Amino acid sequence: MPELPEVETVVRDLRQAGIEGRSLRKIEVFWHRTVAPLAPTRFIAALQGQSIRALERRAKYIIFHLSGGSDLLVHLRMTGQFHWALPDTPPATHDRLILTFDDGRRLCFRDTRKFGRWLIVPNAQTHLAHLGPEPLLHSFSLAVFQDRLARFKRRLKPLLLDQRCIAGLGNIYVDEALWTAHLHPERLSQSLSAPEIQALHAAIRSVLRQGVRNRGTSLGDGKPNYNGLDGRRGKNQGILNVFRRTQEPCPTCDTPIQRMLVGQRSTHYCPRCQPLLRNPGKKPVIPNQRSKPLLPKGSRALIGRLPLTPALPRAGGREE
Ligand SMILES: [Zn+2]
Repeated sequence: MPELPEVETVVRDLRQAGIEGRSLRKIEVFWHRTVAPLAPTRFIAALQGQSIRALERRAKYIIFHLSGGSDLLVHLRMTGQFHWALPDTPPATHDRLILTFDDGRRLCFRDTRKFGRWLIVPNAQTHLAHLGPEPLLHSFSLAVFQDRLARFKRRLKPLLLDQRCIAGLGNIYVDEALWTAHLHPERLSQSLSAPEIQALHAAIRSVLRQGVRNRGTSLGDGKPNYNGLDGRRGKNQGILNVFRRTQEPCPTCDTPIQRMLVGQRSTHYCPRCQPLLRNPGKKPVIPNQRSKPLLPKGSRALIGRLPLTPALPRAGGREE
């Protein structure tokens, strides 16, 4: 499923294509459930003649702010993609919706699996008020993150996937962030030490920023689940450390990456770099706890070089 970096890339592409300010000349709906609960006729009538005032991303939603004051929310779900169609061509097999703008361009919504949804709401901000903070905003401080962890006492994997806790993360970037921070996906959020929280906070931002820089992660060998507006795949799949790399060596320690189900979600991790500590209620022993700062700016590479276990005392001058 497209996550924050993929949706952000689509929004940037649409902005760059000059969608903002354009008005809608024609709206065609080819799959009624894409616009449910509205009937296609009512959906079309509600959009007809409106212009796109601005485009924005919130969590995994694309928001079209409309000239009439309402907002159009688009969720790509599993396979939703945008692409341009030539004038006067019939819709392709998996095109569910086409918007024709006043300059004649036709923007298609292709959605193989049909899970994508378009929804008109009076106000996007109100409609999405239940979502957690945006992890790439400056306002997502360490203190805010600490507060979210304290409020949602759960295992890390399901907690980070919960959009009410933090917005925009999905399976790919959660697995990558947990590996980067050396945290087991089943650790309980309330068991994290201050340095571990700091490491996870930095890791989440780092993997998401990297994803955006690489124009997202496209999965699948044939037709990918996600493309940019130009039809090209993202580049982030080439540099993933653990996600869908089961049995391949961990980039840090060469231990084969393991896969397990956590909360019914496929989860990838390194059993050596991300040990599940016993007695999670107790304060865990943190490698290199005294070395400060644990996580200087930007340092996925640096985290990778941190020792995996605290230095053991030497016995009789010999190496353990
Ligand atoms: Zn490892």
